Amino acid sequence: MTLGRFAPSPTGILHLGNLRTALASWLSARSAGGRWLIRVEDVDGPRCRRDLGEAQLRDLAALGLVSDGPVSWQSERDAAYRAALETLHAAGRLYPCACTRKDLQLLASAPHTEDGLRPYPGRCRDRAWQGFDRALRLRLPEGPVAWEDCVLGPQADDPAALTGDPLLFRRDGCFAYHLAVVVDDGAQGVTEVVRGADLRSVTATQVRLQEALGLPRPAYAHLGLVVAPDGSRLGKRAGALGVEALVVRGGAVPEILGWLGWSLGCLDRPESCAAADLIPHFDWARVPKGEIRVPGPWAT
Ligand code: GLU
Repeated sequence: MTLGRFAPSPTGILHLGNLRTALASWLSARSAGGRWLIRVEDVDGPRCRRDLGEAQLRDLAALGLVSDGPVSWQSERDAAYRAALETLHAAGRLYPCACTRKDLQLLASAPHTEDGLRPYPGRCRDRAWQGFDRALRLRLPEGPVAWEDCVLGPQADDPAALTGDPLLFRRDGCFAYHLAVVVDDGAQGVTEVVRGADLRSVTATQVRLQEALGLPRPAYAHLGLVVAPDGSRLGKRAGALGVEALVVRGGAVPEILGWLGWSLGCLDRPESCAAADLIPHFDWARVPKGEIRVPGPWAT
């Protein structure tokens, strides 16, 4: 059975791009007769706020998107992440990393990746194990990972070249995003990961981590981003409005859903509707691959 999930980070309001991802994952699960969960990814220390997570849940509920099981909060899952690190250590896949941010900036020879990040050059790979209270990286095998993306079609990346060995545990005591996502998708039995195209480049690394933990690989769908009317990324200054602000600008909830449904290929034009009206019309084959612009009146 399909199990979809929406996994927002509670660092701000959910803008139209996030709402579009949430709706697509919900529609995909619902149209397959499956279940859908919300998971709040508040693993990244002080940037994440409980009140923002709760506001995100309210906005999703306003659109009719409610988790089929209890909402999980990653800040309550330390024991599971710690157990995964122990499994990886027992398999010889972890090593402590002593590199500072400055060290990594000085190692400037490696090429830039598509995100403007450099792959980690593996400088600490031979460092002896020093316990679980150090920054820890996963030793990646070389070679490409291929997957069939529900939106983008056939994809392949070599994570060793793209990101290098990923950090799974940080010196400041936080579990890293990759670890939390992969452990939780595995523990919850998620079969379909729907997220923005800005996260396409982390997929191969996460697949390697699934393999190292013996977890099954879900299907992936990376949606084109929703951008401001001038094509720039949605952000504090450009069109990153939440449901409340959209309603103030004349976008009642059925209108927002109509626009989102149209942008996902479910409707011929943006027409007011409820989320459930879109279920019979959802089909990954009709979801456009590219970016989509926020309508002008909803942008400022
Ligand atoms: N928490 C991530 C975000 O809000 C999404 C992670 C995922 O869907 O895998 O960008």
